[in-house]
Amino acid sequence: MDTKTRRAYAKINLALDITGRRADGYHDLRTVMQTVDICDTLSFSLNASGTVSLRTDSEKIPSGPDNLVVRAVELMRRTFDRKEGVHIDLTKEIPVAAGMAGGSTDAACAMHAMNELFALGLSTEELCALGKTLGADIPYCLHGGTYLAEGIGEILTPLPAPPPCTLLVVKPDVFVSTQTVYRRYDADPATDHPDTDALIRALYDGDLRALAAAVGNVLTDITAAQVPAITELIDLMRNYGAIASCMSGSGPSVFGIFEAESDAVKAYHVLKGRRTFPSLFVSRMIQG
Ligand code: ATP
Repeated sequence: MDTKTRRAYAKINLALDITGRRADGYHDLRTVMQTVDICDTLSFSLNASGTVSLRTDSEKIPSGPDNLVVRAVELMRRTFDRKEGVHIDLTKEIPVAAGMAGGSTDAACAMHAMNELFALGLSTEELCALGKTLGADIPYCLHGGTYLAEGIGEILTPLPAPPPCTLLVVKPDVFVSTQTVYRRYDADPATDHPDTDALIRALYDGDLRALAAAVGNVLTDITAAQVPAITELIDLMRNYGAIASCMSGSGPSVFGIFEAESDAVKAYHVLKGRRTFPSLFVSRMIQG
């Protein structure tokens, strides 16, 4: 039987701003998303069972019909009336519930794989139209790279790739509910917003220092009030030479941007020595 193995890459938010709240409770966002080289690995094979099954090495995610990969494969089978069974093997490396779009990128990966295995010949834009019914971040994940995302995240504008640099990405070992973070934000909205336009200008200028100066996330204070490790990590990374350090998404992951890889590696070893942060990555921004 035909098998496809693909990588699904995580994202960070170089800037994340909330510009409004809709009547349906969703928030209007203005965010610059960037793919990083931290990835899950997924294998897809067709079989004659007529059902969708998934095996994963992670105990932190569902392995049944609630898994976003299973939902994405079912969506493709249903939409294109395919009867073949599909088995998925998912090896998780991206921290779960981290603000790094782990579920969305796995789902996007599944849609690309099904497009190939079912020989559907759909364009990325056609996949996006379908993917956004499953999750607002899925269209971005289907593209990957550097994008401005607006609306609830589904209106995408491509941006130039950032200049080369090294990242340190750390996920504190605590669970943060995205819904709770947004609810707290609504109760006490921030007055300090990131300068997303300055960040976009820095990308066009290829100016890493200007980019670093504009990195920001309107949700940082909300999540950091619950998770003090976020502020500690931001400070520690700056002390070790990061030119920017910030939370990704609704957290609790924190990333630092380093001009010198050796500084990122030094900070990595300091944090590894503390043994309190199991999810630690020296990483790079990539174009998907
Ligand atoms: P985002 O950055 O888009 O807000 P996140 O990184 O905060 O996402 P995810 O890792 O996508 O969060 O996990 C969110 C929820 O989705 C978790 O409760 C998890 O159990 C569930 N989930 C379902 N399928 C998956 C999957 N394949 N990988 C990760 N999480 C999944």
